[in-house]
Amino acid sequence: MLSTAEKLIEKVDYFPCGYCTNDLKRVFKDFDKTIVNFYAGVFLIKHKKMGYILYDTGYSMDLLKNNIKYFLYRFANPITLKKEDMIDYQLKEKGIDKKEIKYIIISHLHPDHIGGLKFFPNSNLILTKTCYNNYKLKRDSLLIFNELLPDDFENRLILIDDYKENSLFPYKNSYDLFSDLSMLIVEVDGHTKGQACLFIPEKNLFIAADICWGTQFLPLTDKMKWLPKKIQNNFEDYKKGSDLLKKLIEDNISVIVSHDKKEKIFSILKKE
Ligand SMILES: [Zn+2]
Repeated sequence: MLSTAEKLIEKVDYFPCGYCTNDLKRVFKDFDKTIVNFYAGVFLIKHKKMGYILYDTGYSMDLLKNNIKYFLYRFANPITLKKEDMIDYQLKEKGIDKKEIKYIIISHLHPDHIGGLKFFPNSNLILTKTCYNNYKLKRDSLLIFNELLPDDFENRLILIDDYKENSLFPYKNSYDLFSDLSMLIVEVDGHTKGQACLFIPEKNLFIAADICWGTQFLPLTDKMKWLPKKIQNNFEDYKKGSDLLKKLIEDNISVIVSHDKKEKIFSILKKE
């Protein structure tokens, strides 16, 4: 283990940026009516040399606009948002200037992850090449709302590929983002193609985007109903992603997914 003085990751913070409400009965077989709020999680990582890095950006108030596409989205996926939930507002409250966010890792391009991108006109945007290629091919376009992306989105992209073996994360090849072993990007298919997860070795922490809706649901992957299965890019890959998370948890790595319970995420990050 590195000593505190040598640590590159000073802090990982979490911001719940709006939520959607769903009934687990609609998601898993043999479930009674159970209403759950799924928060859109945003993570802020403070790197000693690289400054602030955001992982995802949560929802945007734009989704409350009245057009048929957003109406359908909200009908299938009722959302609760107010301006105080937006990532720009929460950063300001914390005394962080959004100009200080040099990099944003975009796990994937679903609306609850890209909603806040327009708040950060100067940040470099990190996306996997797989995710980008799939976006260009307009696969999964049903859940990608182009208008939420900044106009110069493509100009600011840093595309990630060329994953390598790394003994710090022996489970799957990874990309050493800043070439200092502080943040490893790991690509996990299933929910979308080329979803970017993040392993922070110093914190023994794996941030796993939408590999599942909540780590407590991992044992229920096989009980997923037809429609929620269909929403995934590839359910066979989705199951492999679930298996990866189970293995990491078994090996005592702290695993967080974007829509995990707030209390759970806060308590994991407090331990670090
Ligand atoms: Zn998603």
